[in-house]
Amino acid sequence: MLYSVKMRSAQGGPHEKGGRHISGAERILSEEKIEQTIIAMLRRAQEHQRGTADFVSLKVEVVKPADIFYRPLLPLSSCTAGTVEEGRAAALAELIKAGVSAAAAAAGIAQITGLRDSMRGAMLLDAVTGRRVDGLGARGVRVSKMDCDNAGRYEAKLVEKGLLGDHVREALVLASKVASAAGIVAELCWSDDPEYVTGYVASPKYGYRRIPIMKEYGNPVGGRVFFTEPEADLQKLIAYLQDQVVLIRPEEG
Ligand code: AMP
Repeated sequence: MLYSVKMRSAQGGPHEKGGRHISGAERILSEEKIEQTIIAMLRRAQEHQRGTADFVSLKVEVVKPADIFYRPLLPLSSCTAGTVEEGRAAALAELIKAGVSAAAAAAGIAQITGLRDSMRGAMLLDAVTGRRVDGLGARGVRVSKMDCDNAGRYEAKLVEKGLLGDHVREALVLASKVASAAGIVAELCWSDDPEYVTGYVASPKYGYRRIPIMKEYGNPVGGRVFFTEPEADLQKLIAYLQDQVVLIRPEEG
């Protein structure tokens, strides 16, 4: 039997009472891994670079095998960039290549750089107009209920590419789920971890394009933007991102 394990943590009270988001995590695991994962998630909330959480929510739910979708891992490749400016120029170019309009791509970057503090979730922007379409304010859309299907094979694949650490491990699974959703054109992301400056653009067409630098070292603000087709069914799309259990198959990436 598999379980969905979710953690969200905040400072100054729960998110819904105005607490500042510190960190979150989502996994799909077998029963024997739940305990160790919950302890690791608690530590993460307590020792996060963004600050110490005083609110931590942990949710464990059983996953019915019939409810699981299996989707392929996105292929991974890297762009070159030595400065923040070069990184953002690379992100713009990748977004446009993936089908986002130049105006919407620029709006996506401006939305993240304009944040006063990091959000818990992602903003949905129309890929043509660049207008925000989720209507979910400071919370945004939190993608959940995903993991890789074969952890050993997945780790080996990342090591093969010379990539280590939780950031890329989690981001590639998330981006693969997002890219598998109907109505998604592309995703833009950079981390809110002050010590992690790498970001990416992901799309169903060109896969996960890692960008070595997207912000200055020490900056605690990051974010995610999902660019959507103008005719996308947003309610269905958001339900898929938040609630559909998806396991990502590294064999197919
Ligand atoms: P991270 O890559 O974990 O540092 O996250 C960077 C930003 O992406 C966060 O500040 C959130 O705004 C957003 N984010 C993180 N996790 C998720 C998620 N599961 N779903 C949607 N957005 C997320």
